Amino acid sequence: MIHFKTSEEVQKIKESADILAKAHGEVAKHVKVGVKTSYLDKIAEEFIRDHQGVPSFKGYNGFPASLCISVNEVVVHGFPSEYELKDGDIISIDCGVFHQGFHSDSAYTYPVGEVSIPVLNLLKATKDSLYLGIEQAIFGNRIGDIGHAIQKFVEAKGYTVVRELVGHGLGKNLHESPEVPNYGKRGSGPLLQSGMVIAIEPMINLGTRNIVQERDGWTIRTADRKPSAHYEHTVAIFEDRTEVLTSHKYIEENFKF
Ligand code: MG
Ligand code: MG
Repeated sequence: MIHFKTSEEVQKIKESADILAKAHGEVAKHVKVGVKTSYLDKIAEEFIRDHQGVPSFKGYNGFPASLCISVNEVVVHGFPSEYELKDGDIISIDCGVFHQGFHSDSAYTYPVGEVSIPVLNLLKATKDSLYLGIEQAIFGNRIGDIGHAIQKFVEAKGYTVVRELVGHGLGKNLHESPEVPNYGKRGSGPLLQSGMVIAIEPMINLGTRNIVQERDGWTIRTADRKPSAHYEHTVAIFEDRTEVLTSHKYIEENFKF
């Protein structure tokens, strides 16, 4: 069942998303060679709690941290750890905030130091595909239009789309209906209606689309250990507009490429 939100509820999600955007911005200041990923998690958790939020992921089905930190071939759901970022890594940082009863969710993949051109191109294409998906996330379209736009764009560049993990509705729960795949057919799937709030989050691989889950029960990596990129926004659909509630603005202001 899809939970449709009132404008007051969307406003609350937007306030949650503001804290989230700024938490990402704080983390961005510290993404560099030599930093332990557990330190980034600490920065995010402190910032969120200092702003009357709760990290959505911490304790979610037993997830141990505030951030999902996914380095290189890790697609999503990596744990923060004692690993120190190295020159040439890419790091996906996914975070959610719960505030005033509502969740927001967004992710960003950073290059660390000197990253190879093919991998930088993967990051750019994945980020561009997110915005192409958002362009299709409009009143009267269908969920499949979003995935179709993402898939068509990235596959034309030779990349692959992860199938097993998808975007989602969110609100009072971190994951709600509908699922938002990053692949699909134009005109298929649930109708996009006013009051729907969804997270769109392409997970795009340089090599095979196949993934494996590590024995920790969470970490998802590519089967061929080639890099994977991930960007995510939470958006609200209204009859006359689609509003991107989360923001990467503070990341891009604070992170020096
Ligand atoms: Mg997320
Ligand atoms: Mg999500």
